[in-house]
Amino acid sequence: MSTSQLPDPPELLRQQLRGVRGLLLDLDGVSVLKGRPIPGAIEAIAELDRRAIPYRIVTNTSLVSRRTLSRQGASIGLHIPPERITSALSASAAWTRRTYPGQPLFVITSADGRTEFEGQHLIDAAEADAPGARAAAVVIGDSADELTYPNLNRAFRLVLGGARLVGMHRNPWWLTPAGPTLDSGAFVRGLEYATEQRALIVGKPARTFFVEAASELLGEIAAREDRSARPSRRDLAMVGDDVWTDVLAGQRAGLRGIFVLTGKHGPAELDRAAARRRGGGRPDAIAASLAQVVAALD
Ligand SMILES: [Mg+2]
Repeated sequence: MSTSQLPDPPELLRQQLRGVRGLLLDLDGVSVLKGRPIPGAIEAIAELDRRAIPYRIVTNTSLVSRRTLSRQGASIGLHIPPERITSALSASAAWTRRTYPGQPLFVITSADGRTEFEGQHLIDAAEADAPGARAAAVVIGDSADELTYPNLNRAFRLVLGGARLVGMHRNPWWLTPAGPTLDSGAFVRGLEYATEQRALIVGKPARTFFVEAASELLGEIAAREDRSARPSRRDLAMVGDDVWTDVLAGQRAGLRGIFVLTGKHGPAELDRAAARRRGGGRPDAIAASLAQVVAALD
């Protein structure tokens, strides 16, 4: 396959998607871009609802809670209920709830993002600054207002004091109306460098993130289909605009990986991924947009 002829022609796309019974969809670069819906995305998601094809939005977008994401989507015509969203933020909250129940956590996130951690023991700046302060984990998320030097320094000290370093994701940058914008992954890397500890990453490209979202989807499919045709992860496709964290990572979790051309990566990144010997590879299919993916489902 040459990336000079993109996207895959409709008939080929249809073949590559044959048997797909559910979709994991990235948000940024697939459904929305720079705060606006991507052309055809609203209709494509409505079509999934109409055809009762189950889907989950799986996103590293972690500036706000799922409830707020859902509301923001609705305000631009994209109707996705919060329970159809798994974000790196919500997955991080679920992970700390399971792993460190009742234990102190230092979480860098927005005020709205903190609502995902409801009922958990989050320590504030003053508690983190107290002599001998301890936390079970520090969680680095997205928030332009909270990713400050003082908060990062608190995180640094708590990790030196024994806290587990957790990153909601490791994305280095993303596209906003102002252009390429620094993302929290860059700060996670900085803390790894300073603490000489490797962060546990909860969101994409972590395998468990895909596996958990996929098993929700498979449960939904199995609940309404007959048992003879039990679906597997190969019957699901991850649709993303990031060749590494969506497409190849989804494939490593056993899903089909579909690349769309509406986001941040293009032919150059596909070529880089195809050429890289370790951790590289090619998408199962390349589509112009989410609308094309949905139109090709049989
Ligand atoms: Mg994306």
